Parts: sequence; structure tokens; C-alpha cells
Amino acid sequence: MFGRKTATQALVVGAGPVGLFAALQLARHGVDVAIIDSQWRTAARSYALALHPSTLRQFDDVGLAEPLLAQGRRVDRVDYCDREGIQATLDFGRLSGKFSFVLVMPQHLLETALENRLAELGVDVMWSHRLVGLEPDVDGVKATIQRLAKESTGYSVSSTEWVVEKTLASQTGFVVGADGHASAVRRLAGIGFEETGASQRFAVFECTSESEAKNRIQIVLEELSSGVYWPLPGNRFRWSFELTGEESVPERAKRRLAVQVGEASYPYLTAENFAQLLAERAPWCDAEAGEIQWSVAVRFEHRLATEFGRGRISLLGDAAHLAGPIGVKSMNVGLEEATELAERVAGVVKSAESTAAIGAFERERTSRWRQIASGGTRPAPGEPPADWILQRADRLPACVPASGRDLEELLEQMNLELR
Ligand SMILES: Cc1cc2nc3c(=O)[nH]c(=O)nc-3n(C[C@H](O)[C@H](O)[C@H](O)COP(=O)(O)OP(=O)(O)OC[C@H]3O[C@@H](n4cnc5c(N)ncnc54)[C@H](O)[C@@H]3O)c2cc1C
Repeated sequence: MFGRKTATQALVVGAGPVGLFAALQLARHGVDVAIIDSQWRTAARSYALALHPSTLRQFDDVGLAEPLLAQGRRVDRVDYCDREGIQATLDFGRLSGKFSFVLVMPQHLLETALENRLAELGVDVMWSHRLVGLEPDVDGVKATIQRLAKESTGYSVSSTEWVVEKTLASQTGFVVGADGHASAVRRLAGIGFEETGASQRFAVFECTSESEAKNRIQIVLEELSSGVYWPLPGNRFRWSFELTGEESVPERAKRRLAVQVGEASYPYLTAENFAQLLAERAPWCDAEAGEIQWSVAVRFEHRLATEFGRGRISLLGDAAHLAGPIGVKSMNVGLEEATELAERVAGVVKSAESTAAIGAFERERTSRWRQIASGGTRPAPGEPPADWILQRADRLPACVPASGRDLEELLEQMNLELR
């Protein structure tokens, strides 16, 4: 695209779920948009894997909910447990509207569906294009982009390296930075990324199951650790266990035993690691594990950008914030931000509205995420919550796969309200 046309109304950097959805929403509003990604294709594994009810409502508005429902697993019960077993249950079925459940589906299926829908609107992702420079000017931003190509090297052992084939200059009205936790857009805009809490390390195991996975999400909340069981479509499930440092699990990836995700390497874990963690944390779990399809130890940081953007440059999703994996907040809230930002950018581009709306988006979103990240709870008026819930009251909002009004309604089932 940049070969023929070097100016666009908006440039989305990053074709993860949030960037793809931002580009889709911009295209639906009639904004001339380009989307680039430094990788050569979409994610190949599951990563974030649950869509909140509010995300499904947004996907329904763009005609994507039905095709996704056909590929995912609807789960309307979330159990909260400890080593002894189930202590409380949330019934998503009591939420109003037709999406009263969480849809569990691998991230790559979501990304493929978004990419295909975007292509139907005439926008193709420009894979192997890496943003390396941003220069804001009066009515836009000049972006410098490297087009990458594979080059084979070596004699006796051949290998493939990525080299810069061409450096391109592109003029755009707005830059949407959806380029993940190590965001180049954030760095180039000079925006900080502050810690909002201690990082957590999780051991993640995705397994086939001898029998159909049980249709409940099960979240283990012990005093010093947490864990989550996700039933996946087909006879598969995922267990993620928070590590406390006491376990015999590798801290760093040894080259031979590493799982590569994008440019990052993660330590590979064994069936013995899984059996040991399961026996210690969830001995009641009767999931009959078959083959472990993939397993990694991954660190989840808790961070928030010091600003959601500057002028005509905005940040969304993991580029703007990071949270723990249980509530799947960073991706789902990022998808909500994508819808909101696209409306505001379209207002400026199509209806000559003031760019003040973009500045307001940035301020509103910062305070919204602060509430999401630090949101503790207190007992709601009426019947007091059970002791088990009260002891975990401040950890619960981050561990409910929902946001906004749905989260409030679900917490009411535990006789809690957000502080
Ligand atoms: C192993 C693993 C397990 C995970 N498990 C969970 C989980 O259980 N629950 C959960 O909530 N979350 C989980 N996550 C996190 C989850 O994947 C992210 O929250 C989600 O992907 C964020 O989406 P995003 O679109 O904001 O960013 P990303 O999906 O990170 O996409 C960013 C994109 O930007 C591209 N990019 C980066 N730099 C540039 C550049 N300079 N130029 C162009 N493109 C660029 C990248 O190639 C990438 O495709 C996991 C992540 C990993 C790696």
C-alpha cells in the first residue's frame, strides 16, 4: 500500500486483537486507514482467551458475534475455589441481554476473524512492516516504517534472518498505537509506563483432555497465589498457576527449551511441573489430562501509561496498560477503547469536529483504567458477604472476566460493591 499511496487519515500500528479491531471500527466509520505489524502473520497460539459479555455486545454491532460463537465455548459459571474445593460461584446467566456468558476461544481464532472482516472492508494488514519513527506536525504525523524481508544465511546450517528491505515515509492524520507491551509508539511519543502493582509469574499449561472439559471456569484464590482453569473448545483445557518462587520451575528460558512468542522467549515446562502444581493447588480437579500441547512460564506486569496519548498519537490495549491474566482485562478493555477512539477520530476526520475529543478520550481512559486496576470492593448494603469472600474482597474484581456494569452486577451476587 505504501508503495502506491503514502498518505492515510489514520495509521494503526500493531495487528493484535486491539489494533485489528481499531482498524475495523475506523474503516466502518469511513476513515481511510492503514494497519501495519512487524510480524509476518497473526499470533499462532492462544494467549488471552476469553471475551467478556460487553465485548460480545460490541462484536455483535459489527456482525462478528455469530461467527465467533460458532468457534468458541460459552461458559456461564465461574467458581471461586481454594485447595479444599469450590467456595463461591458467579452465575453469568443472570446478566441481562443475549450475551450472558463468557466466550472462551483462542486468541488466534479471534485475530483471524478480525483480519478477514477487515479485508472484507478493503483493508489488508501490512505484515512485516515495523514502525521506527514518528514526527508530529501541524495536521498530522510523519511515520517512518521499515519493510522487512527474509534472507537466508549460512552454509552447512542454513537459517533465516529478517532484514530491512526498504524504509518508507508515510503521512497520516492520526496514529493509533496498539503495538503491545513494548510499544514503539509509546516510546517514540516519550510516554512513560509506570508500575501499578507487583508483577506476577504464571505457569501456563494447555492440554488435551480424555473427556469433554467441564463447562465452568474455576479460579483458585489462595492467600499467596492464584490460578485459573479455562475449558477450551473441543476436548481441551488450560490451567494457569501463579508461581510464588518456591516451585521447581525454570526462571529463564534455556535456548533449546524455550517457547518463542513474537520476539520473546519463555521457559518450557514439563508434565511433572503440571502434575505437581495441580496436586498442590487444586487436588480436587478431576480433569483427565491427555497431552500437554504447550506450556510456558510467563511474567505478567501491572502497568499504566503516564498518558493514553499525546496530540494525534493515541495508545490502546497492552500498549497503554497491563494486568494479570485471570480477568482478561487488558485485551477486553483495549477492545472497548478501540471502539471509542475510532468514533472520536472519525468525528474529527469526517465531521471536522475538534481534536479536543481525542484529548478527552485520553483523560477519561486514564481514570477508567486506574479504577479497573486498583478497584477494591466493600460489602453492599443488606446481607453481609461470606467470610471467605470478605477475606479476598479486594482481589476479586481483577479476577472476574467482565467489566463495566456487568462487573458491578456480578459482584452484587457476592454481596459486594466497587469502592
Ligand atoms: C504466552 C502468553 C500468554 C498470555 N495469556 C494471557 C491470559 O491468560 N489472559 C490474558 O488476559 N492475557 C494473556 N496474555 C496477554 C494477551 O495476549 C494480551 O493482553 C493481548 O494480546 C493484548 O492485545 P493487543 O492487541 O493490545 O497487543 P498484542 O496482542 O501484543 O499485539 C501487538 C502487536 O503489535 C506488533 N508490533 C509491536 N511493535 C511493533 C512495531 N514497532 N511496528 C509494528 N508492529 C509492532 C506486534 O507484532 C503485535 O502483533 C498472554 C500473553 C502471552 C504472550
